[in-house]
Amino acid sequence: MQQAEPQSFDRVLSSMCTEPHPAAREAAERFLASNPGDPATYETVASLEDRAVELLAALSDHPNPGSAAGYVTSGGTEANIQAVRSARNRHDAADPNVVAPESAHFSFRKAAELLGVDLRTVPLESDYRADLAAVDAAVNASTALVVGVAGTTEYGRVDPIPELTRIAHDAGAMMHVDAAWGGFLLPFTDHDWSFGDAPIDTLTVDPHKFGRAAVPAGGLVARESAALDALAVETPYLETRSQATLTGTRSGAGVAGAVAAMDALWPDGYRGAAKRAAGNAAWLAGALDDRGYDVVDPELPIVAAAVPDEEFTALREAGWKIARTGRGDLRVVCMPHVTRSGLTAFVEELDGIRE
Ligand SMILES: *Cc1c(COP(=O)(O)O)cnc(C)c1O
Repeated sequence: MQQAEPQSFDRVLSSMCTEPHPAAREAAERFLASNPGDPATYETVASLEDRAVELLAALSDHPNPGSAAGYVTSGGTEANIQAVRSARNRHDAADPNVVAPESAHFSFRKAAELLGVDLRTVPLESDYRADLAAVDAAVNASTALVVGVAGTTEYGRVDPIPELTRIAHDAGAMMHVDAAWGGFLLPFTDHDWSFGDAPIDTLTVDPHKFGRAAVPAGGLVARESAALDALAVETPYLETRSQATLTGTRSGAGVAGAVAAMDALWPDGYRGAAKRAAGNAAWLAGALDDRGYDVVDPELPIVAAAVPDEEFTALREAGWKIARTGRGDLRVVCMPHVTRSGLTAFVEELDGIRE
């Protein structure tokens, strides 16, 4: 087979993944042949996973990081599916439902279909955050889970997590926060999103996005171990007796890479990266606004702007990896590999197209 080289990140503006930290790359390679799904056999990677959960719990202000329940998933999708599954298993409704804002990630649609729960999506406020009155009207005695997003995929918005948690718990439902992308940015903002801000039950946070781990490394963290116990099945042929994960064999590289990245970057490295990303997003939003585009104010470092189809297409043809939101806005995610000089080149290209 001809050796294929990975693509450069130079013109990648639409991705929530980024270049792994060098320490993550190195650790991932060392642990390629280990399986945290079989912890009694692969003890070293199993203890690294405990460390990963502790770091993710500390980052999300868990009351007890050293004994927090959770695991390193294959990504935000698996963590969200498992949060829905756990809440469903802990609820006794015959026809359980999940209430989520329209901005919730499409992984919840997969979860609902797989798990046979009714997904009730509710409209957003004009600021792209969950509409509390609409959520309140949608929950009922069969609601097993309410979802809030801390860093929405399209516009980087943070839902009102404490208020949503109150609505969930008043209805006898669990509260899940999806911070898959935002989790490594939000500790350096004053948003309310974490275990420290509200008694949320479960949280998704992905090291393989802003955490600079190697893919695959997602994360699920729970307030109480009962949330994970509700996922456990018996495992007759393994040395350990039960397994709470969705996948069986899973990536030791993902676990080791996540720990290496977090050990290297938490908290100061991530703080610096978050600050640079915010500066870049503000700069790009300003540059697009100066040119007369309608820009959605970047609360977290995602810039969305109404750019005409012909210009969008010309940028793609020039090699820029850009994407659009559901309603057609250009969307640029200011990940750590996105630099000011890269964005300057992007805006110059746009100026050339507009001439
Ligand atoms: C990226 C993302 C997901 C999905 O995560 P994967 O790692 O791609 O499976 C879920 N929720 C949010 C908010 C995301 O940004």
